[in-house]
Amino acid sequence: MKVIEAKIVVLGSQGVGKTSLVVRYIGKMFSKHISPTIGASFFTCNISVEDSRVKLQVWDTAGQERFRSMAPMYYRNANAALLVFDISSAASFAAIKGWVKELQSNVPEPMVVSVVGNKCDLAECRAVPRAEAAQYAASIGAQYAETSALHDQGIDQVFLSTATSLLKMSTSNGAIRSYDSADGDSDRVPTGSPTEETATHTGKVELPAWSIDSVAHGELQKSMCC
Ligand code: GDP
Ligand code: MG
Repeated sequence: MKVIEAKIVVLGSQGVGKTSLVVRYIGKMFSKHISPTIGASFFTCNISVEDSRVKLQVWDTAGQERFRSMAPMYYRNANAALLVFDISSAASFAAIKGWVKELQSNVPEPMVVSVVGNKCDLAECRAVPRAEAAQYAASIGAQYAETSALHDQGIDQVFLSTATSLLKMSTSNGAIRSYDSADGDSDRVPTGSPTEETATHTGKVELPAWSIDSVAHGELQKSMCC
């Protein structure tokens, strides 16, 4: 079976729900809460797509989004990005454009980019029309999805479509590590969602020893829960 390893960064203004999205997705595998006290954290999960497997390293920030320019180390070598805004905040949507510029000038390799309108449960407070967001996403070659971390809507699809695009891209992109695995167990992993089985083996909170100091800016993030 084909296996690829890829890194995805989650970007967007503070408060749009990035950590909630990651916790919601990864939380299917873990009951434990993510430690909010580290500078940047990443989690690994396996996503099966047809007869291939994507080992995804999901990077979440701990408050660096407040800084004008995030440590490029955070998104350097990323193969995919989720650009998250809050559909009830026009400013958070405008900020996405800044992240796109920052990625364009700092990440030379092609990336799978998804624009994600989170908090779609707040429809009555919508400040960003769906069509406008979808049009912008298309203009930068990104997919568009709306999610609710609160109600667990749309999140699996975002990760699954990213994994699918990463697989497609991996055939032409040397930056993505790709190999064949003769791992028979993997046949039991259902398509699309992380499972307990994969979680026990591969998913754990990992601190990148080399990067904690350099990525952290000494800010602790408040614990959150949706
Ligand atoms: P981050 O700063 O981007 O990581 O945002 P957080 O994940 O810390 O979320 C910020 C706030 O938005 C918290 O109070 C969350 O409970 C809330 N939040 C996150 N996702 C949603 C959502 O889908 N719907 C609603 N209504 N609130 C959300
Ligand atoms: Mg956060």
